[in-house]
Amino acid sequence: MTMEEDTPYAVEIKSLGKTYPASGKRPPVEALKNVDLAIPKGSMFALLGPNGAGKSTLINILGGLARKTAGAARIWGYCIDAQARQSKASIGIVPQELNLDAFFKPRKLLELQAGLYGVPESERRTGELLKAVGLSAQADAYARSLSGGMRRRLMVAKAMVHDPPVLVLDEPTAGVDVELRHALWDHVRALNKRGTTVLLTTHYLEEAEELCDRIAILHKGQVVANEEKTTLLRRLDSKEITLTLDRDIWQVPEALDAFAPQRLGPRTLRLRYAPSKATSGQLLDIVREAGYGLIEVSTREADLEDIFLKLTGTD
Ligand code: ADP
Ligand code: MG
Repeated sequence: MTMEEDTPYAVEIKSLGKTYPASGKRPPVEALKNVDLAIPKGSMFALLGPNGAGKSTLINILGGLARKTAGAARIWGYCIDAQARQSKASIGIVPQELNLDAFFKPRKLLELQAGLYGVPESERRTGELLKAVGLSAQADAYARSLSGGMRRRLMVAKAMVHDPPVLVLDEPTAGVDVELRHALWDHVRALNKRGTTVLLTTHYLEEAEELCDRIAILHKGQVVANEEKTTLLRRLDSKEITLTLDRDIWQVPEALDAFAPQRLGPRTLRLRYAPSKATSGQLLDIVREAGYGLIEVSTREADLEDIFLKLTGTD
């Protein structure tokens, strides 16, 4: 029985730890602490966290670019230590830092990479890959003439030459402008639709929310949340309502004390409530009963920013 058949997970990480040794005056850095993570096959999974959280360290361990100091990991069922060759063949990584040789041409770069992975010429899909990332026209242009977004897309193609079931993108849109960011998202979505499991790291909340179906949050080397995006959003159970009233608020009605009232201006009031316990209608009734007229009402759902602040306790 082979491992890859009996796990529903594309990536499984158990009690993973990484401590970078001390160097010079710098003390050791514990970049990952006891990380457990299971990424379902076929999913679009975000590893979200601020700079320094340990995202790249984790990715580099999976790709064999950094050595773990504790724990275990499997990719497509293959142990990264005992079955390093198979586990490496199962994953394609687009690194955070793009170190492209300026004198390479995209087609040449992909051919070299395919050679490196031992993909026979008859099975290479260089033209198809270039087309998929929208670089057919640049196939024989020098890499240095490509824009930042094009280079990033070329790196995605490079990570896919050996047709791995798992694609990892480390901060794919850091430094990529907004338009290209959306184009890149479309590419990644298309790959996922065709069956590739996608793991991406990001410190952009918007990116995780927009692109992924599951989100794990890494904070100071530890996983502080890991669930379906919708569950994560629901778990916060918090909504914000901002009211503009028809006259100055001298005293916030006592009945609103339970809703964390904040006076934003003489006539503007912000309230926070749990949709599972109260409705905006009830709040508006209290305000009207206190004798105020409503000029404007706006509500805002909790977004990942709120979840992040709540989970990491940094607000
Ligand atoms: P992220 O990708 O989430 O920004 P990193 O994995 O790059 O986080 O870094 C996690 C922590 O490990 C940080 O404190 C960083 O300074 C440290 N770190 C990363 N790489 C090295 C290294 N090669 N040597 C020493 N410390 C490192
Ligand atoms: Mg990083």
